[in-house]
Amino acid sequence: MKKIAILGSTGSIGTQTLEVVRENGDIEVLGLAAGSNIALLEEQIREFHPRLAAVWSEEKAKELKGRIADTDTKVVSGMDGLIEVSVMEETEILVTAIVGMIGIRPTIEAIKAEKDIALANKETLVTAGHIIMPLAAENGVSILPVDSEHSAIFQSLQGNEHKAIHKILLTASGGPFRGKRQEDLLEIGPKDALKHPNWSMGQKITIDSSTMVNKGLEVIEAKWLFGVDVDQVQVVVQPQSIIHSMVEYVDGAIMAELGTPDMKLPIQYALYYPERRYLPGDRVDFWNLGKLEFEKPDMDTFYGLQMAYEAGRRGGSLPTVFNAANELAVSQFLKRQIKYLEIMEIIDDCMRAHKNIENPTLEQILETEAATYDRINSRR
Ligand code: NDP
Repeated sequence: MKKIAILGSTGSIGTQTLEVVRENGDIEVLGLAAGSNIALLEEQIREFHPRLAAVWSEEKAKELKGRIADTDTKVVSGMDGLIEVSVMEETEILVTAIVGMIGIRPTIEAIKAEKDIALANKETLVTAGHIIMPLAAENGVSILPVDSEHSAIFQSLQGNEHKAIHKILLTASGGPFRGKRQEDLLEIGPKDALKHPNWSMGQKITIDSSTMVNKGLEVIEAKWLFGVDVDQVQVVVQPQSIIHSMVEYVDGAIMAELGTPDMKLPIQYALYYPERRYLPGDRVDFWNLGKLEFEKPDMDTFYGLQMAYEAGRRGGSLPTVFNAANELAVSQFLKRQIKYLEIMEIIDDCMRAHKNIENPTLEQILETEAATYDRINSRR
């Protein structure tokens, strides 16, 4: 039995990971961690019997302890709890399905404890890729991409020489506002931005997809996962989300992974790599599909993508500013404290004001995050 732990088990990726576990029946879940949704966490504990469960809020952890007093699961809380779940002795793979930079420390500790990482939590790699990738190499740890685009790239790299990569073609659906101009986006509220045409995901990534900041984060994620320059990553809008991404090699050959949009495919591939398992679900029917469409992304309207390229090119602490500014701005937008277009304005303002630190330590990354938050909070 393969043994795993999941950070963010109650979220979109977390619950789909547990569906993959349930459908295959040969993975043991040793640890689960969530933010505050203890009702769902309790159900998961009763079904999967993990040894350890972490809840971010201490108060909710206490409540959960009472609710599951009849089980053998130990409940822990806070950052120490997240780390405890990340480094459990017998775990082979840690699924990082938590949202945001909060995943950095647990991911680093898991790598030090020689756990392979099935990585969904892209914010961690965007901000600390220069720490995580060398640490993983040092500890003989695999970073297995869960993000569908990066899984597609990873699959397209199988059996090919890494040094023969010419460029990566990162596909994007274009989100719900594809084809719109800035003036069309002035009155967009959370409800409008939470409607993704092809994927059902957590709130933050759905907003990020609508602004194309998500694609920007993915460009930087690709830089770290596949050791390429950001300018070797070309974003191609593929509105049907059938081509999940491609690799172009030096001889002009292009390898792609195609399929219907279903996150269980990349999750399962990461959990069983290099084995391919049967996965029920819809298949692409090319006769019915008829054609595939492609477009150039509109980086003037969705200039978050342009800012990501700049952050990825300059590196250092600038990607942390890009990411942290976006994290706080999106949460303020979801609370209706700011307007939609202010998300991009805030990122721009924070990046312009930042004095870049080359090769930042973990402490400097966290200080940069805090300074970015202070700057944004002082606007209000
Ligand atoms: P969700 O918002 O659906 O889930 C987030 C999970 O993280 C929840 O389980 C939440 O717990 C937990 N969490 C949040 N804060 C904390 C905390 N402080 N301590 C412990 N747990 C916490 O997000 P998604 O599943 O959509 O996304 C997760 C990550 O995967 C993101 O980085 C995203 O970019 C990436 N990703 C997601 C995809 C998708 O299809 N959803 C596709 C590709 C990448 P609780 O429910 O209790 O709040």
